[in-house]
Amino acid sequence: MSFYDEFLQYSDADMEAVFQHTTSADIERIIGKDRLTPKDFLALLSPKAEEHLEWMAQKANELTVQNFGRVILLYTPMYLSDYCTNKCTYCGFNVTNTFTRKQLTMEEVEKEAQTVAASGIQHILILTGEAPAIAGVPYMKECVGILKRYFSSIAIEVYAMEEEEYAELMEAGVESMTMYQETYNPLLYDRLHLKGPKKDYRYRLDAPERACRAGMRGVNIGALLGLDDWRRDGFFTGLHANYLQNKYPGVEVSISLPRIRPTMGNCETGNSVNDKSIVQFMTAFRLFMPRAGMPLSTRENAEFRNHAIKLGITKMSAGVQTAVGGHIDSQENSGQFAVSDTRNVKEMSDAILQLGYQPVFKDWQAI
Ligand code: SF4
Repeated sequence: MSFYDEFLQYSDADMEAVFQHTTSADIERIIGKDRLTPKDFLALLSPKAEEHLEWMAQKANELTVQNFGRVILLYTPMYLSDYCTNKCTYCGFNVTNTFTRKQLTMEEVEKEAQTVAASGIQHILILTGEAPAIAGVPYMKECVGILKRYFSSIAIEVYAMEEEEYAELMEAGVESMTMYQETYNPLLYDRLHLKGPKKDYRYRLDAPERACRAGMRGVNIGALLGLDDWRRDGFFTGLHANYLQNKYPGVEVSISLPRIRPTMGNCETGNSVNDKSIVQFMTAFRLFMPRAGMPLSTRENAEFRNHAIKLGITKMSAGVQTAVGGHIDSQENSGQFAVSDTRNVKEMSDAILQLGYQPVFKDWQAI
């Protein structure tokens, strides 16, 4: 049994019909409940629920403060390598894009680490494309060996791996992982992933569970919003997170809500997602899973991120460069996507304080 079995139970559900039958009275009753079912969550993603966003936002704020306090954990991504064997139509690093690829040497990893650590950041997220022959587990372990001298927490956002590989990276000092399914729609997934190992939908879908089985402390999942209908992908993201939290109660489960951003070779999906939709997803998810984490990246602009702090967000990135080596040379090469909120760590932290929240640089340390 894996999440795939649960996914199959809902994959043919007529969500449009559910949405059409959802009434204001249903939404009001659901907002008042202490514990929501997947069906309730789906109702909160309906067009009808848009009329109740203000109330959903208030409840989301209450639940977040109850479970997390008024704190926002700050982290920064570090791109180690942009070599990739996949052809994902929406990503600047895809194998057919021609630019000079780069992978950090150990000396460069150390320099990047020193630069990021000097900003006060203690939590680092390392990223690579999918090129295991170049940036595989041995390379990542070597990088982690350097990074753990500078950071209290190291997370990975890399390709889908075997359980033993996750265990090996944890042994080296990694404590959590992010894996975006991109879209839960298998047919669309197939159309967007033209070539490479990432084409295997099911292998990617089960990766977060393999990481949980390996004993990873934190697992973060998500869909790239704007690829498919956001209500559908939002529902399956929540369902997946709920499955992981119920089955692995010791794992800190979180979801991200990344919205598609411009890249080289822009991908037109025809499924736009606006600010109001993201707010609806964010607040609906908070009501469904009060204890789950919710990071928000710099894909979103400063104004939106400030607003989102009170809607359920628990972590934020700051001082972000999406190019390999970008912290030591921002002219180095092309980034994975365009950053929208360009505030540095000090500016982000000041903004959080001004909003009545506390910026936190370290909430966990491996011993
Ligand atoms: S999304 Fe990831 S796997 Fe796909 S092309 Fe970009 S870096 Fe490679």
